[in-house]
Amino acid sequence: MRDASVSSPERVKSGMLHLYERTYLEEWVEGLYKQIGITSPSDLTIENVSARLRMGVTFAPGVADEVIFDADYGHIFINSLHCPQRQWEVFCHELCHPLRHLGNQLLLPDEFRKWQERDAQAFQFYAAVPFFLLQKLELPDHEKELIDLLSVEFGVTHGFAKRRWEQVLRRIARGRLHHELVQTLSVPKKQAAPRLVREQLVSYMAVKEKVRPKVAFVLCYDSLIYNVNERRAARQMEDLVL
Ligand SMILES: [Zn+2]
Repeated sequence: MRDASVSSPERVKSGMLHLYERTYLEEWVEGLYKQIGITSPSDLTIENVSARLRMGVTFAPGVADEVIFDADYGHIFINSLHCPQRQWEVFCHELCHPLRHLGNQLLLPDEFRKWQERDAQAFQFYAAVPFFLLQKLELPDHEKELIDLLSVEFGVTHGFAKRRWEQVLRRIARGRLHHELVQTLSVPKKQAAPRLVREQLVSYMAVKEKVRPKVAFVLCYDSLIYNVNERRAARQMEDLVL
């Protein structure tokens, strides 16, 4: 369930994209792309990105999608039987490992390996459909057309484009939540009993954004509202809420 005012593409198009909240990882990917001169969706091809990052790529029918790497070398294997869109998605996942991770996964503790996989899954969305390029597009009014456009512009499957767009909407909802939090906090703190503010915020989340705060959110709330760094507070919200 999602607030219609958030999920409506018309409303998003008319100016809510500025509320989109980037994660640290997304900022990292964006910084990397800018460093290697990625300025438009047409720059996002396996050939171009791998060449600029000096990453080897081999396409072969039936090969397992994977990457072999050490500190100075990375080579990605992609099953050429995948459609081109899927190949790009696979590339964006595998690319994360040599850029951000260390070591042979077979030798790593299970939890650490799982963390690396989650990191690569998150990376994949930011690398395949980066927000700084998405926000330059003229977005159609209707969601289906919008998702078709993302799929064509970024060369991803329709399902991937849809998941990325849903993520964008969640991040906008988070941005709105953050905005609301800042407004709530602008009430002089000594006048606003923390518990009351917390209850207001929780009911705002439940009623307006249709998100149910995790127990951890409630437990961490008091330290969160007194966090003077708003950006950091917003990021903590991501882990706790969305
Ligand atoms: Zn992986």
